[in-house]
Amino acid sequence: MDKLLLFEYKCPECGLGTVRTTRVQNYKTKIKGFPFIADEALIGICDHCGAEHFASEETKRWEDLFYRSLEKRQAFLSPKETAGVRADLGLSMEDFARLIGCTRQSISAWEKEHRTSPPSRTADLLVKLVRRSLHVGPVDVITFLLDEAKKWGIVIEVRSLVAPEKQHEGVVLLTKRLRKKTQAEPVAEFSLAAETSSAEEEEIVVETLDGSQVGMLDYDYEHATLVLEAIGDFPPWKTLDVEFEAADGKRFSGHNISVIDGRIVLSKKTPLRPWEISKITLRPCEKETRV
Ligand SMILES: [Zn+2]
Repeated sequence: MDKLLLFEYKCPECGLGTVRTTRVQNYKTKIKGFPFIADEALIGICDHCGAEHFASEETKRWEDLFYRSLEKRQAFLSPKETAGVRADLGLSMEDFARLIGCTRQSISAWEKEHRTSPPSRTADLLVKLVRRSLHVGPVDVITFLLDEAKKWGIVIEVRSLVAPEKQHEGVVLLTKRLRKKTQAEPVAEFSLAAETSSAEEEEIVVETLDGSQVGMLDYDYEHATLVLEAIGDFPPWKTLDVEFEAADGKRFSGHNISVIDGRIVLSKKTPLRPWEISKITLRPCEKETRV
């Protein structure tokens, strides 16, 4: 097909000029929102008003060039790499599809050696995250995504990106009184007799600022200690410096405290009780951060 005859028609914009097929060097355009420069592009330009027109076969050609350049820059995992991630996990296509929330057909298409098009960018990023997590360990997802975007020619500034040194500043926790659920009674709001709210009936839940529960505050009567019983993988450090604040504004601190089976002794031989504490800050022990 003679590409020079792609256009050559009366301009619909101005109705006066003719849209002429024009060869443009280093034509800057966008493919799916990402910047792309076509070495040589054929576009229609009106010889009167300058309006630009595009032919679908030409834009399809740019798209193919764009994807080829992405594959060259390894912006996508290759079919082999995608299959490798699944193999390393020891999963069938069905199970891998169920793991990442897509169809078996999608996985099959991505792993095909001569695939016609790459996976969606979202899918590619997700498989890459799985791979990174599998091979390297915990991933800083935001940094990862920003680096990946650079491969597509996009530089994104994320305002709230925490500098690595700030991660040592520790974590601020807030307490929340939670009435202990008794098994038999539903909500006894109509029964005044049930209103015997005493401290024993409450749990003091400890949460991060975004509201995830990381443990509970307890008082060990035997040793007269105030204890934070952490749950899950919290905290990420083995020895801590702590600071905590009582409801009356008094501050306390402790240093070089070991975390043993999730138990963090905030204060020994103390009259302080869990419900008196309002805010707790935990930091990795200074020694630990220097290692
Ligand atoms: Zn025109």
